[in-house]
Amino acid sequence: MAAPGSSARDWRAGESFAVTDGPLRLHPMIVGFEPIRESISVQGGDDAVFLLEPVTAAAVVYRDGWVLLDTGFNVDVVRDPAERGRHFNYDSYTALLPPGDPLADQVAGLGLDWAELRGCAVSHVHVDHTGGLRHVPPGVPVVFQRAEYEFGAEISPAMGGAFAAIPEDYLRPALEIALIDGDTSLAPGLHALDTAGHTPGHQSFSIELSTRTIVLACDAADLRRNIVDVVPCGSQMRAQDAPAALAAVQRLHDLDLVPGVEVWPGHDPDWQGWTERTME
Ligand SMILES: [Zn+2]
Repeated sequence: MAAPGSSARDWRAGESFAVTDGPLRLHPMIVGFEPIRESISVQGGDDAVFLLEPVTAAAVVYRDGWVLLDTGFNVDVVRDPAERGRHFNYDSYTALLPPGDPLADQVAGLGLDWAELRGCAVSHVHVDHTGGLRHVPPGVPVVFQRAEYEFGAEISPAMGGAFAAIPEDYLRPALEIALIDGDTSLAPGLHALDTAGHTPGHQSFSIELSTRTIVLACDAADLRRNIVDVVPCGSQMRAQDAPAALAAVQRLHDLDLVPGVEVWPGHDPDWQGWTERTME
């Protein structure tokens, strides 16, 4: 199947981000906040209750480079009134940012260098996950599921607000987009997991650390209770993806029961893992 966009290519058989050995550590990052209706995060939730949810990303560090998983908001869009009005025009939603650039500042604070970034993978095309792609240097592979990227490529900039997407974030010609289909090994100890449903090609990530395996559910499970109670998030971009969303939380629930595996929800204000600086 042809890859959308001039800069998208297929992930090659046996390809890996250019890192060796296993992950040394994982750095969880909170890169913003957003008020979200409970009914959006959990099926059957209250329509009138808002949760102040963290926007999350993670750096996976190897001895010879690092990998970025999800990227947060585009802070220049959020801070520009005209751009903000153009992109964030849907009901009862606003992006909340700390001072500065929360992704770039935390990367610098961790002592990580963008010149040593060996790969990036993005769970899906929503605005709270794609904005930091502007920091990814040319030539660094950025992995999406093909179904997700094709879905995202069909969203026009004018329609982005209705889809909670800013196509300019992930269609930038300087990006080297690499497309995968389903579960795929991205690097030693780092795997993409097919958790489609929230969006047509949503993916989660598993990171094998020395003492545990952490699975980042991303938006297949906003909250811990999605995982524990096997209840999907309250909305899917396409109504026909509801069965896939249920299968995804069942998969995450089952993984969470495996000894040594922790499944982290993508947006849970009460999940302490996101407040940790380093996991080993
Ligand atoms: Zn999100």
